[in-house]
Amino acid sequence: MQKGAIRVQTENIFPIIKKFLYSDHEIFIRELVSNAVDATQKLKTLASVGEFKGDLGDIAIDVKVDKEKKTITIADHGIGMTAEEVDKYINQVAFSGAEEFLKKYKGQESGTNIIGHFGLGFYSSFMVSSKVEIYSRSWKEDAAGVRWECDGSPEYELEEVSKTDRGTEIVMYINEESEEFLEDGRVRAILEKFCKFLPVPVTFEGTQINNTNPAWTKKPSELTTEDYQNFYKELYPFAEPPLFWIHLNVDYPFNLTGILYFPKINKSYELQKDKINLYSNQVYVTDEVKDIVPEFLMLLHGVIDSPDIPLNVSRSYLQGDPNVKKINAHITKKVADKLDEIFRNDRTSFEEKWDSIGLFVKYGMMTDDKFLEKANKFLLLEEVAGSKFYTQEEYRTAAAALQTNKEQKLVILYATNPVQQDSYVQAAISKGYKVVKMETLVDAAFINNMEMKWENVSFTRVDADIADNLIDKEENATTVLSQEQEGTLKELFGAQVTQPNIKVEMKGLSAEAQPVIVTRPEFMRRMKDMAAMGGGGMNWYANMPDEINMTVNANHPVYTQILKENDNTLQQKQIKNLADLALLSQNLLTGADLTAFVNRSVELMAEKK
Ligand code: ADP
Repeated sequence: MQKGAIRVQTENIFPIIKKFLYSDHEIFIRELVSNAVDATQKLKTLASVGEFKGDLGDIAIDVKVDKEKKTITIADHGIGMTAEEVDKYINQVAFSGAEEFLKKYKGQESGTNIIGHFGLGFYSSFMVSSKVEIYSRSWKEDAAGVRWECDGSPEYELEEVSKTDRGTEIVMYINEESEEFLEDGRVRAILEKFCKFLPVPVTFEGTQINNTNPAWTKKPSELTTEDYQNFYKELYPFAEPPLFWIHLNVDYPFNLTGILYFPKINKSYELQKDKINLYSNQVYVTDEVKDIVPEFLMLLHGVIDSPDIPLNVSRSYLQGDPNVKKINAHITKKVADKLDEIFRNDRTSFEEKWDSIGLFVKYGMMTDDKFLEKANKFLLLEEVAGSKFYTQEEYRTAAAALQTNKEQKLVILYATNPVQQDSYVQAAISKGYKVVKMETLVDAAFINNMEMKWENVSFTRVDADIADNLIDKEENATTVLSQEQEGTLKELFGAQVTQPNIKVEMKGLSAEAQPVIVTRPEFMRRMKDMAAMGGGGMNWYANMPDEINMTVNANHPVYTQILKENDNTLQQKQIKNLADLALLSQNLLTGADLTAFVNRSVELMAEKK
């Protein structure tokens, strides 16, 4: 038997491994199973180049828990190690055998990827073990079995033993603090998390954990729609079917495969549940894909797999990594191209999915100028009436004649709540205007953002002013009333509408328009909306009283009627009621004012008799 001290650069590496290397102790399973996968892949490579001529046999990697002995054993039938190799690769910590193998067999891997790049892989077992044993027999003919043992101190034992089968068995004697890892359920959950798509079968208690051939590793041409949908189900058993997907497949200048799915989005914002998973050569790494996936696509689902993303490194390092930047840009481009393709080839289906897609597109346009450039062509504006969709250009063509203001800007009219704003929508439509839906929180930000990014466009909410004034063209309308009648009407409103924040103005609109119309100026309303959402430094706006414009449509027949009345008290009540009705339609009548309105209405009905 050989005894010796493990050669490490620092005095004693084990306390460091235990405490600092991985805060997540469970990853020791990932590390050891990855090593077993590598050993198996290496053997396959040797077989494919004719160096290994024997029978591969059952190559499944088996994970076992022995509750009595308090051990976890991971056994493979890969290339195994000779005593010299154990000495070289295990005793000399940080000398990676994977690197050496890759150098030698570069270009001959015949599709079998070597994982070994997670760092101090094997030694992560000491995070949870008081002692670790390795039993191994190399693939080489006449190789003897070896046993290595170490209790976490730098001293090890290495001896020859008899071992009948090829491959390596790692036996971990789980320490007291780590006994949770002796629970079957815990081990199974960890295996399902990290090993679900490993390329070599992994078994636990007689069942195979993994799908060795997941969809993203295949060529798009080999896959049917059903295959993609089934794979989505495999990833997220409880999610609704996806809308569509993008298969990523790049091998230059970086390696990237994966499938990104566009989920169906219900209007609610409980979006972050099912995340994109990051893999490296089919080993699960994390679902924290920030920086790798552009911010606005974080709502997508699916898998990306790249051995070129540095793993087990700090997040700030990821940000600056050139490959990560390139991958991020590539994903953005792919998504834009895919959306453009669906838009051009199947506009109907694109429109049907717009409810869900729109959210991504708008986020993307706000945050990424490259994406903006492409998305300008397929962003859709949905008309309130009749669910017709316009691209920006189509809207311009359809609306420019009527909706260009005196500054030569196209005015895009929108409704945030078509039901509540219906009377304004109808008034605008009757003037031939096109009103589009902007119903979500994203839309509010989107509007502000696009007014800066799009040329000669301004957005106006449909109830920002009376229909006649929505497009600021400097027109003057005269009324049907005599000057004297107008004077009386002004006095009546002056007496009844006394709130300092309400500005009353008389106009001659069409007889069919409402007798009183209440609007909130676009600018002030947006500022208050933003303040309500917690916009920094905007409290000042939140505390401002609502600024309200009240337009009296002197052409409405009701005024000729009221002015004929010789009962001044009745006139006053009727005018007050008309004003209150208009406030009510904008949700601006509350509390005591609302009660007074109800009582007055009842009185008026009684008086009518
Ligand atoms: P890495 O996998 O990054 O090289 P490890 O410390 O996990 O680092 O492993 C060191 C080396 O030990 C490996 O490169 C490999 O040569 C060898 N080794 C580890 N586990 C096995 C195994 N199950 N079968 C064969 N060789 C192994």
